[in-house]
Amino acid sequence: MGFELTVLGSSSATPIYNRHPTSQLLVFRDRHFLIDCGEGTQMQMLKYKVRYHRITHIFISHLHGDHYLGLVGLLSTFHLQGRSADLHLYAQQELMDIIEIHLRLSQTILRYNLIFHPIRHYSPEVIFEDDDLIIRTIILNHRIPCTGFIFSEKQRPRKLKVDKLQEYGIPFTHYTRIKNGAGFTNADGSFISNEELTENPAVPKSYAFCSDTVYMPELASQLTGIDLLYHEATFLHDMKERALQTYHTTAKQAAQTALDAGVNKLLIGHFSARYKQLEPLLEEARAVFPNTDLALEGMCTRIE
Ligand SMILES: [Zn+2]
Ligand SMILES: [Zn+2]
Repeated sequence: MGFELTVLGSSSATPIYNRHPTSQLLVFRDRHFLIDCGEGTQMQMLKYKVRYHRITHIFISHLHGDHYLGLVGLLSTFHLQGRSADLHLYAQQELMDIIEIHLRLSQTILRYNLIFHPIRHYSPEVIFEDDDLIIRTIILNHRIPCTGFIFSEKQRPRKLKVDKLQEYGIPFTHYTRIKNGAGFTNADGSFISNEELTENPAVPKSYAFCSDTVYMPELASQLTGIDLLYHEATFLHDMKERALQTYHTTAKQAAQTALDAGVNKLLIGHFSARYKQLEPLLEEARAVFPNTDLALEGMCTRIE
């Protein structure tokens, strides 16, 4: 199984029309990642029955309140509920100052390890890597330092054709080498090619989260081949001057980025409070990039 994304909040700036500020849960196999944590994220997780105790890594794109004001509350809940598992937090250094002030003034010593990973905001970097997954930052252009995140599944080894391996009587001890591309030589000297013993693995999947940013045509080159792209689309294009002034993107521009990058699917979100109805944003984006959806709260999207 690949990624599963649940949108928890898709409003910009303030909660309105029952929409909440930005937050998303990304599940990759058994890993639970929270991306941004706007006000109300905890209530949204309860509403949508997210298993939030399984969250081990939290990524915060930038320090505008609509992207992190729910975080101190969530850290506090973990503490009050007796969490013992480590929690990794990736954000700009200054966020830790805010958390430390809160902990000091409330005389709280967290019951779990909060492991802070400061993000550089001037150049992209790999911030997480394990056997199956790699996470990189993207540098966005916003009023204050802001990063996006690309979650990329690693190429899996080749899939064994177990019936063939058994048919040839190949010992189990050779399986790992064969998975990695080796063939096998029988006792009689005959060679069995890797192609006969394995099949292609599933194509690796990827998800990119592009938080608040002004339209960046050059961003597309960093998003080539992404399966699912979330991109902010705060305004309709008739507000493009306002978008520029406030370092945000229009729905048409977000779709242009998706088109230029050749992504498979686009989700738009971070909707301005001026739009009670979101269909015009969707129509504008689909006119440029048809495979677009609105990032509606509670929506679950699989990338498989
Ligand atoms: Zn925002
Ligand atoms: Zn912002």
